[in-house]
Amino acid sequence: MSSHDIIIVGAGSAGCVLAARLSENPNRRVLLLEAGGRDINPFIHMPAGLWQLRNNTRINWNYYTEPEPRLGGRRMYWPRGRVLGGSSSINAMCYCRGHRRDYDEWAAGGAEGWRFEDCLPYFLKSEDQERGASEWHGTGGPLAVQDLRFHNPLTDRFLAACETAGIPRTDDFNGPHQRGCGLYQVTQRDGRRCSAARGYLKPALGRPNLEVATRAVVSEVLFDGDRARGVRAMVRGKEQHFEGGQIMLSGGAVNSPQLLMLSGIGPADHLRENDIGVRVDQPGVGANLQDHLDIGTVVRIRTRESYDTLNHVMAGLKYYLGRRGPGTSNIAEGGAFVVSPEAGDDRPDIQLHFLPVQLEGHGKVLLPGSGMTLHACPLRPESRGTIRLRSADPAAAPSIRPNYLDSDYDRRMMIECIRLSQRIFGQEAFADVVSGPVYPEAGVETDAEILDFVQRKAETIYHPVGTCRMGNDSRAVVDPALRVNGVQGLCVVDASVMPALVSGNTNAPTIMIAEKVAAEMA
Ligand SMILES: Cc1cc2nc3c(=O)[nH]c(=O)nc-3n(C[C@H](O)[C@H](O)[C@H](O)COP(=O)(O)OP(=O)(O)OC[C@H]3O[C@@H](n4cnc5c(N)ncnc54)[C@H](O)[C@@H]3O)c2cc1C
Repeated sequence: MSSHDIIIVGAGSAGCVLAARLSENPNRRVLLLEAGGRDINPFIHMPAGLWQLRNNTRINWNYYTEPEPRLGGRRMYWPRGRVLGGSSSINAMCYCRGHRRDYDEWAAGGAEGWRFEDCLPYFLKSEDQERGASEWHGTGGPLAVQDLRFHNPLTDRFLAACETAGIPRTDDFNGPHQRGCGLYQVTQRDGRRCSAARGYLKPALGRPNLEVATRAVVSEVLFDGDRARGVRAMVRGKEQHFEGGQIMLSGGAVNSPQLLMLSGIGPADHLRENDIGVRVDQPGVGANLQDHLDIGTVVRIRTRESYDTLNHVMAGLKYYLGRRGPGTSNIAEGGAFVVSPEAGDDRPDIQLHFLPVQLEGHGKVLLPGSGMTLHACPLRPESRGTIRLRSADPAAAPSIRPNYLDSDYDRRMMIECIRLSQRIFGQEAFADVVSGPVYPEAGVETDAEILDFVQRKAETIYHPVGTCRMGNDSRAVVDPALRVNGVQGLCVVDASVMPALVSGNTNAPTIMIAEKVAAEMA
């Protein structure tokens, strides 16, 4: 049994921030336990390498959901990082914070202290913005935020098409206004991915008070009465116990609720069904699952500009010689935040990701020819799902039920997403390159046909949150300081604590959450 002041479970976006910030105090002994291995795969660090990582099972939990009732019974692929950096080591690097009202609504719903003006200082603290400091951006932080070094000419056509379709140009999705189309800024430093492991953990690794164990899968939080006292883990195949004064779960929106349930904190009936002793009956654990469901519109092109026909040898050479060219692209180069007719106010409710390549099934299905893909997702879905245990075996993948498209609003919004994407591809800027539709297939026109297409082809855009929701009501799993209700010495710090999805990608908000909690513990 080894002893530490703080044990952090999971070295993902949040866990790396906690480990780095909390070990700044040399008197605090910090242990970070990560189920995956070190981030040695070179494709993690080369931005366009994310394409090569799509079938890699070593650094990915490779989850699949239960059959989704409103998506034709499909089991949806849910990648999650299992490596130092967690999902920040395999994500698409788009840097977005969401809309300020997302946070104001968290606070109004009981997450006191989480209004946008409370969170902004921690976005700034985390950030090293290439364009310099301002009211909206920070410099000198561990998370490098830079402009893309290279983008495809088709992405310029996408931006021109957005403008003629009535979506104004913006050069910053994270400034005073979120609305508009533009190039994404990315979490990269000098053409390399800046994961949470690279930005936060690596510079802290030499500290004598920080210990990091990889291939350490935590299976249970151990208690003394109602106080968390340590964790049980399989470390490289051997069971070990670690004692700690404070246990911080940062396993992400799938694994943190799983670990709480394995430790007897969750819905009592469900725990009993799995022969797990009930420590705290907490129906909120694993409930409130939310995710951005996304639909790709794919068109074929006449030219050879897209990445479908990229010369990988030349791109690799250019990258390794000077970190230039397509190797530095995050593929999802351009985007937009759009206010749909459903919105009712000026807060964008659809996000677009433009990829100058044909993409189907997370890139696992290769389509013939050359083309482009426009991904669209409704930003604030109403559907709610669950994470549950399949069994008391910690090695068993949890049961994931996103329950996508459960609400009429969510279904209408997906139809709106397709119509918007088709409108953009129909603009003059694309007229001389687009040769025809791939998805939706020609002839898919009515709302019913589009919905059928959505049910066949929609996929996650990888933003599950909310399964250990913070708040001040009886179903909240953690309080606004992220302490687990009903026990002592245990907290959850990761994307699972978000009460509701933010209107954008979730990496920067997760890092902000960890920065804020670490600062409050200082
Ligand atoms: C393919 C993909 C693309 C994405 N693209 C973007 C993007 O472009 N921009 C953006 O902002 N967001 C993006 N996201 C989302 C973003 O990366 C995540 O929301 C964010 O990383 C979540 O951080 P987290 O700390 O909650 O969890 P994670 O980063 O997933 O970290 C959890 C860590 O805990 C470890 N762990 C889990 N269980 C255990 C256990 N029992 N014992 C020990 N360790 C454990 C995991 O292995 C993992 O390392 C993407 C995600 C994916 C998967």
